[in-house]
Amino acid sequence: MPLLTRGLFINGEFVDAIDGATMEVVNPHDGSVIAMVAEGGERDIDRAVLAAQGAYPQWSSLAAAERGRLLLRLADVIEQHSAELARLESLDTGHPIHDSTLLDVPRTVATFRYFGGMADKYQGFLPPVEAGFLNYVTHDPIGVVGQIVPWNFPLMFCGWKLGPALAAGNTVVMKPSELVPLSTLRLCELFEEAGFAPGVLNVVPGYGARAGARLASHPDIGKVSFTGSTATGRSIVTQSAGNLKRLQLELGGKGANIVFGDANLAAAVNGSAFAIFHNQGQACIAGSRLILHESIADEFLEKFLALAASIRLGDPLNEATEMGPLTSAMHRDRVLNYVDIARGEGGEVLTGGKAPEDPALSNGYYIVPTVVRASPESRVCKEEVFGPFVTVSTFANDDEAMQIANSTDYGLGGGLWTNDLSRAHRMAGVLRAGMVWVNSYKRVNPGSPFGGVGSSGYGREMGFEAMHEYTDLKSVWINVNAAIAPWYPR
Ligand code: NAD
Repeated sequence: MPLLTRGLFINGEFVDAIDGATMEVVNPHDGSVIAMVAEGGERDIDRAVLAAQGAYPQWSSLAAAERGRLLLRLADVIEQHSAELARLESLDTGHPIHDSTLLDVPRTVATFRYFGGMADKYQGFLPPVEAGFLNYVTHDPIGVVGQIVPWNFPLMFCGWKLGPALAAGNTVVMKPSELVPLSTLRLCELFEEAGFAPGVLNVVPGYGARAGARLASHPDIGKVSFTGSTATGRSIVTQSAGNLKRLQLELGGKGANIVFGDANLAAAVNGSAFAIFHNQGQACIAGSRLILHESIADEFLEKFLALAASIRLGDPLNEATEMGPLTSAMHRDRVLNYVDIARGEGGEVLTGGKAPEDPALSNGYYIVPTVVRASPESRVCKEEVFGPFVTVSTFANDDEAMQIANSTDYGLGGGLWTNDLSRAHRMAGVLRAGMVWVNSYKRVNPGSPFGGVGSSGYGREMGFEAMHEYTDLKSVWINVNAAIAPWYPR
């Protein structure tokens, strides 16, 4: 395949970085370089912000229905390029093509459609105030917003972040992850094809310490939406303080996935494998802690380990592949290091914990599905591993299950497998998480708020909540018929 070259996308054009810097994009399946991409620095962020400021007056004053129409058209254009985008995403990230085709691309399309439809239905309100006054409240766009995206679902997160930001009338400077910028840059071309004006969307690939930090601290950016690690989230809070910009932080997770004694075991085994092994476990909402009732633990584990061992690892572009490589060599090493940490803490590796033996995969960043029996107090049960690595512990009663589930600083997603309706509601009520799935895992929908509590961050993507995130409220008071007494009678 010829090497792709891509520039920064600023004001409707692909341009080189001001200092001429470039970075390599690597195929995680075999370590080969597939693209050279311009690496944006601080000054590139500055000119992207200028372009977004230039486009703002026209974009924000377009009829909301017109903004919606463009987003709907974009959804159609993306759909027409589904196969190409799925392939590019798999090549760059290592997602199995089956998943990119059936999950990443359709979810991106669905999210742009949802917010395209939302644009002219998101309306203000009229508080019933005292007689003689009309008070109305509008949702005004914030202005130029910054968006910083991680490497695990680059295309899908474009839908999550751009859909509501643009529907609300903001213009955008986005920094994709330095590891996987390709689908986002291709999306820029599709934006043009859909008919968006230059400057409405600007994309500056680059490293966090340069481009990311400038975006977070830029004085003319009114809000930053960030998805990434908790450590980086903390530094963005600090960097953003200068102009008190609004923040939305979607950070890490350590999802508890609890299987009760009365669960449908076949469904729980299958759903729990999806919860952790889909996308090689590189998901903030992954069910990375299996918490099993002691009455079913042995039977569950026997079936779960057999399923884990049967997962087909391979080239992401092969239709039969069920798990691809991790997205970078550095991350693969980080996950493998957690296997050593687990052993050092007395954990028992029940399966996996290593690279596959298949020589065809030896240059890629693969890890065999890994299941580790570990104490809930151990580091591997507290820290986000973000790989195909799941811990297993057991509980005797519901209180103990909740105590274990709520024993991390994170609070993003969690699963409950039970056929007892009362228990499901009771446990969902006390699980400390932004999202709970019962007899299912990892469901997402553009209409349902997505986000966490505690060290998993704050703010929500999707639904009306996302529109709130990208707008400021303005309360307007009109004296229609009120005789106002003088301040002090004279
Ligand atoms: P990361 O924090 O290393 O990087 C995320 C993005 O931030 C990248 O674009 C990076 O370049 C940028 N960045 C890094 N340092 C920066 C800085 N100092 N200032 C500004 N930007 C900076 O995270 P990652 O490794 O790319 O992604 C994995 C993490 O993302 C995991 O912790 C995962 O749980 C989390 N995540 C959370 C959600 C969610 O919705 N809660 C979704 C997906 C991923």
